[in-house]
Amino acid sequence: MPNIFEKELNEPQPQCCSNGACCQGASPSTPFHALMQRATQGDEFARNFFSIMVPYASHEAAHKVVPGLVERTLAAAKKSDDFKNPEDVVFYRCRYQTPDNKCGVHEDRPQFCRDYPDTPFVVMAPGCAFESWQAKCRTKYSEMKDQIQNLDKLKQELSTLKNTQGALSELSEEDYQELAHISSHHTANLSLVLSLTRLHLSSPMQSMVFSEE
Ligand code: SF4
Ligand code: SF4
Repeated sequence: MPNIFEKELNEPQPQCCSNGACCQGASPSTPFHALMQRATQGDEFARNFFSIMVPYASHEAAHKVVPGLVERTLAAAKKSDDFKNPEDVVFYRCRYQTPDNKCGVHEDRPQFCRDYPDTPFVVMAPGCAFESWQAKCRTKYSEMKDQIQNLDKLKQELSTLKNTQGALSELSEEDYQELAHISSHHTANLSLVLSLTRLHLSSPMQSMVFSEE
């Protein structure tokens, strides 16, 4: 099923090339102890995560396996409020990955594996098949944000126009035309606002993986 970014941004995802890099260098944006606490409280993601993932002994150990992903993740962690110290980031690899980097439990893999990547705001491994999708989504997302800012400007113009001109009955033909122009922009952009709101709710705030934004 298409995820919300595919639907709202009209950007279908490519096929995963199954190189297994994401399974070798996972790093949730929730610190280890907080994630463990969520698991003990019954959180489904946290429980599934710990049921398949094994932590690396150190960043260096993870770096030997997936250097690019580790470097990107640590750079993102420096910008994250959740990690006062990037050294607190824990990298994991999946216990079910086969020696040739395939999924050993493909039919039974957890939902978060099936959904990955469900947002373009995650740190992807260099060479991940979804990198081009990520770039296109981010460009569209940023264009939408620019349009929303323009919409805010239009709303301010509308408000100024109303305040300066007083009652609608006192507006000139020219003012009416200006109002109609602004209103049509407003309506056309309503779906844009709704789309962006849905995307904001979906990600990156609720993402379980590091955001690069
Ligand atoms: S269960 Fe399969 S898809 Fe999920 S992390 Fe492990 S190897 Fe990767
Ligand atoms: S790193 Fe990207 S292309 Fe490779 S297995 Fe993970 S999602 Fe698929």
